[in-house]
Order: sequence, then C-alpha cells, then structure tokens
Amino acid sequence: MSSELNLVLLGPPGAGKGTQATRLREDFDLPYIATGDMLREHRQNGTDLGKEAEKYMNNGDLVPDELVIEMIMEEIEDKGDDGFLLDGFPRSIRQADALGEEIERRGRRLTAALLVEADDKIVLKRITGRRMCSNGHVYHVDFDPPKHEGVCDQCGKPLAQRADDKPETVKKRLKTYHDQTEPLIEYYDERGLLRRFDGSRSQSEVHDHIRATLATLRLEERL
Ligand SMILES: [Zn+2]
Repeated sequence: MSSELNLVLLGPPGAGKGTQATRLREDFDLPYIATGDMLREHRQNGTDLGKEAEKYMNNGDLVPDELVIEMIMEEIEDKGDDGFLLDGFPRSIRQADALGEEIERRGRRLTAALLVEADDKIVLKRITGRRMCSNGHVYHVDFDPPKHEGVCDQCGKPLAQRADDKPETVKKRLKTYHDQTEPLIEYYDERGLLRRFDGSRSQSEVHDHIRATLATLRLEERL
C-alpha cells in the first residue's frame, strides 16, 4: 500500500506558505514544486518544454495549462515517489480538474489541499511592514525592526520597501488571490481534501499543526 503525500498548497501571500513548505520539505523529504520557479528554471536551462513555454511568453501569452502540467508531472516522476508539495498551481477549477486527471492517470491521487489562511488585515500588516537592504537582509518595522531606523544592522545599507510590498500592490494581489482561490477552496472541500491551518499563529505553531495532520494522513493512507 502506498503512503504518498501528494499535496497542493493554498494560501494568500504573507500567510507563511513558503516558510511552511521549506519546513515540510525537510520533515517529510518531499520535493517542493513551485510552478513559478519551475518555469524559470526550464527557460534558463533551455529544455524543450522551456523553449515551448518561451514561445508563448514572448508573445505575451499565458503558458498553456497542459505545458505547465507536463512540467509538474515530469518533476513528480523524477523526485516525487513519496509525494510532493505543489505551490502556485492550480489557480482555477479547470486547472484543478486537469491536474487531478493527470495524477490519477498515473495511478495516484491527491492526498490533501493544505490551506494556510490569514486575514487580509494581517497579511497587509506583515507585507507592508517589510523593509529590505540591497543585500537582501529583511526586517519588519513592527515585528523585527533594525536598531537604527532605515539602516541595515548587518551591512549598514539603507532599508527600503520593495514595490511588491506597497499597500496598493498587496491589495491587488489579495484581490487576485481571493478571486482565483476561493472557488478552489470550495472545490477541494467538496472532495474532502481540504485541510485548514491558521496562518495568523506563529510559524512554529502552524508547522506543528500541519506536521501532525500530515502524519495522521500518512497513517490513514497505510491502513
Ligand atoms: Zn543589509
């Protein structure tokens, strides 16, 4: 019997999804497939799929779902014998259906969709408070302020807010997130696959909760 953990990650920016993914990858030895990074790597390495994707991107078109799914399945077959953590895909019901079909075609199935939730208010505070120096050292005006305002403790360079972290940008990203993801939350909930986690709690608390949930899921898979 298999005890795979085939997982999809959902959650708004700033809910700590990336941090959780890093820890889970270590705990359960699962490959982390972030579709944005995956596409970039394919293009940089000039793979056949990467070249194909480039054609669309150069025309200002979206990379077709089939192509992205092909890349995902390649990663899964390569490194995902025990499961995987998929982040950034699916973003629509159509994509969720297509992904589910491909996974089932290989005699596997999705174990769970992990949703790390956080209120828009919390997300806004977390993201818009970030400050960074040109060497990539990160601070937060409330939660992790530098000793001297506007100056990096580690290298003395000035700290600034990234364009991506400005309130208007974050609000736009949140709107996109809600528009795209709310139907998916319902989709996975109806299929009994959704697991919710409170991203407003500390990273360790969220991590413990997810780890316990996954340990149970893995146990259930073995029975
Ligand atoms: Zn610095």
